[in-house]
Amino acid sequence: MAAQETVDHKYVYDFSEGNKDLKDLLGGKGANLAEMTNLGLPVPPGFTITTEACQAYLTTGRQPDGLAGQIEAHLESLERAMGKRLGDPRDPLLVSVRSGAKFSMPGMMETVLNVGLNDQSVVGLSAQAGQNDRFAWDSYRRLIQMFGKTVCEVPGEEFEHALDEIKSAKGTHDDLDLDADDLRGLVDAYKKIFSKHTGREFPQQPREQLDLAIRAVFESWNAERAVLYRRQERIPADLGTAVNVVTMVFGNLGPDSGTGVAFTRDPASGAQGIYGDYLANAQGEDVVAGIRNTVPLQELGQLDRASYDELLGIMARLEEHYKDLCDIEFTIERGKLWMLQTRVGKRTAAAAFVIAGQLVDEGLIDLDEALHRVNGAQLAQLMFPRFQLDHEFQPVATGIGASPGAASGTVVFTSARAVELAAEGRSVILVRRETNPDDLNGMIAAKGILTSRGGKTSHAAVVARGMGKTCVSGADDIDVNVPAKRFTVAGQTVGEGDVVSIDGTTGKVYLGEVPVMPSEVVQYFEGSLDPEHIDNPLVRAVHRIMTHADGKRRLAVRTNADTGADAARARRFGAEGIGLCRTEHMFLGDRRELVERLILARAPGEREAALAALLPLQRADFEEIFREMDGLPVTVRLIDPPLHEFLPPLEQLAVNVAVAQERGEDVAKEEALLAAVRRMHEENPMLGLRGVRLGLVIPGLFAMQVRAIAEAAVSCARGGGVAKPEIMVPLVGAVQELETVRAEAEKIIAEVVGDSGVEVLIGTMIEVPRAALTAGQIAEAAEFFSFGTNDLTQMGWGFSRDDVEGAFFWRYLELGIFGISPFESIDRDGVGRLVRIAAEEGRAARPGLKLGVCGEHGGDPDSVHFFHEVGLDYVSCSPFRVPVARLEAGRAVVETGGSDSR
Ligand code: ADP
Ligand code: MG
Ligand code: MG
Repeated sequence: MAAQETVDHKYVYDFSEGNKDLKDLLGGKGANLAEMTNLGLPVPPGFTITTEACQAYLTTGRQPDGLAGQIEAHLESLERAMGKRLGDPRDPLLVSVRSGAKFSMPGMMETVLNVGLNDQSVVGLSAQAGQNDRFAWDSYRRLIQMFGKTVCEVPGEEFEHALDEIKSAKGTHDDLDLDADDLRGLVDAYKKIFSKHTGREFPQQPREQLDLAIRAVFESWNAERAVLYRRQERIPADLGTAVNVVTMVFGNLGPDSGTGVAFTRDPASGAQGIYGDYLANAQGEDVVAGIRNTVPLQELGQLDRASYDELLGIMARLEEHYKDLCDIEFTIERGKLWMLQTRVGKRTAAAAFVIAGQLVDEGLIDLDEALHRVNGAQLAQLMFPRFQLDHEFQPVATGIGASPGAASGTVVFTSARAVELAAEGRSVILVRRETNPDDLNGMIAAKGILTSRGGKTSHAAVVARGMGKTCVSGADDIDVNVPAKRFTVAGQTVGEGDVVSIDGTTGKVYLGEVPVMPSEVVQYFEGSLDPEHIDNPLVRAVHRIMTHADGKRRLAVRTNADTGADAARARRFGAEGIGLCRTEHMFLGDRRELVERLILARAPGEREAALAALLPLQRADFEEIFREMDGLPVTVRLIDPPLHEFLPPLEQLAVNVAVAQERGEDVAKEEALLAAVRRMHEENPMLGLRGVRLGLVIPGLFAMQVRAIAEAAVSCARGGGVAKPEIMVPLVGAVQELETVRAEAEKIIAEVVGDSGVEVLIGTMIEVPRAALTAGQIAEAAEFFSFGTNDLTQMGWGFSRDDVEGAFFWRYLELGIFGISPFESIDRDGVGRLVRIAAEEGRAARPGLKLGVCGEHGGDPDSVHFFHEVGLDYVSCSPFRVPVARLEAGRAVVETGGSDSR
């Protein structure tokens, strides 16, 4: 910093000196104004004060040395170029002072228009506009209003109130009906409001206005709402904003003037065409503020053909130049078009894919770039069912799309009621002002969650995302009254039992049940829509980009699937094997009884008998999965959870025993179970007798599973199929554990497999930190590693996931201890480092060691990039995440600039 504050450091750039790649320094708005200037487009002249100047101001509390002089010099040269002086009483130069950070922060920071007007120059302005008093006084009242609000923190409502009063005195709703005298009166009223709140007169010195406005823009960076927005959007807090000083052009000069906004394609669907709004005789914000009704941009074609044609030409030029969808702001001053802003426009997930595909067709970008332009989060959004919205349904409120999905259900206000109604099989939407850890059960029971407060990192948002549940948070138009069991919105009252629908992607809230339609993208993945033969631009674009991603990626993508049906669906989604087949469900349902026998076994032979009865059941399960995966690798995890999880809960057993005793029935079995539950109770089941420890403690358990796997594989081979089982031992922390299991397993495999040609690999999960740190040793006994990043995160952080997410993660996110839950996206620095160490040391000990990941991170976009970087062979994720992982694995290659394909 110190070096930057020397006198010759450059803090101010003329628009002709910048370009679009200088966003860090000039902010997005400034960089793009410069780019348009250099393209020769009609941009009103001006200059940009850099983000560095803002940073210096914010850290030291004063303008850095040299800044004042540079502003002076640039202002002088602007005055020379325009042939006018700032605020000159006879012919004033007026400017706008506009914030503009590197990342667009819509509505978060401020702009002041018409700087340079005062009691004298307003007269000069009118004269120059051909004695247009109305225009001049309208401009002046806008200055006092914006300056008061933005620079001096005068409450904006007071100005609006004064405006409304004048309008109602005239009996009109339209500010165009106000004449010059009305506006002159309004200026007086505004000045009074100004001095009442600031204790001073409205500043008449143009230079003072300019300096104060610049300072206010600097300070707006740290305004509360800007700070909140940055936290939510994970924009670094120290970037600062640039300030743009732009010669004013006037859309409020009369009916031949106006102002508008436009997109070069439809940002909702991606469709080609002209999308925009225009408002005649208006300035700046009027278009978006909804003061008067705008007209579709096409109508400008009738109002002012020449400007319209010029605008379309410029829009086409901008698209070609930026090679992307652009949005723009423009103003027409008496038939002369001026460009006030452009940027690469925001768009929906669907539009992102469609536009990327179109741009490839148009030859503007190649497929690598198209792949770069979309992402897995967008694809995931497109895979949720959507509301089928016709005009019948209008949102009554819009909050933050905190966790995607579309959910309709009966409104409830308490967790208890949510649980009750859900138990009756009803869909419920839990509505709260905000949720807290006590609401957890209700959130689990609900189909969706709606809150009137809180953002993307609120308790409701964090927990809902963790559960994959639809959530809209911070819908602040909704007034929730929990004791009265109702909320009001848009003048309507909604009580318990009424139905609402919430869209966790758009944040929109609807009254009544909105019909839901399945995602076309899922239909395509499932094979029921043929991309070559249907006329759906989205499906075609997805198909094309996915095909390219598959060709690019190095990582294979497998799925976590426990049943044949899951496996089949995941294959349709593109899974290339199973990375995690859990076996615990094979001990549930009517097999529970066998597990109870196993646990209670005392007499010789009882345990063996229970295991022998389980063996054919497990074998049949594996046969089905091997058949579905037909030659693709299947990683089967030996039983992992503590066995007491298979027993009924303590309270229930205690009641059973008491009731049976009362009735004089035989309670021997119940009592034995109760005793077992008490004996097996663990304070920390997550760290107790589970995983490999079970295999080492309970004779025959793992052996039975290994035999079932091997026999299923052999039977598959005998039937002409191919099975590629990989036996995975969970929770290993020391090589000795694995060696012991391995020695026993190898004997069984050799015996079962014989000369059938079946090959069975044996490997381990790496999910205990000690395993990661001794991976070199463990690799001696493992043919593959699969990182269990859920447990590795739990144990790496010392978090019990079920306890921490609901209890305090929202606070950690708020404090910035992490930017995203480490269960959602891998913690690169900590848990990721364990993965890196284990991958490196494992491969060093055993070249060719197969490496994969089977935690939920396998389907998280950012984590997939990390696993690509550390050189894993595959990721495995839930079936629905498989397409996301394929896409991101391809993007990882494109983004690291690699061209390696498989
Ligand atoms: P935001 O980032 O909120 O869009 P802007 O700085 O773009 O804020 O300005 C707010 C409004 O004022 C926009 O409609 C913009 O087009 C208009 N505006 C800004 N500068 C000028 C100017 N020099 N002449 C005319 N209108 C302007
Ligand atoms: Mg703007
Ligand atoms: Mg685990």
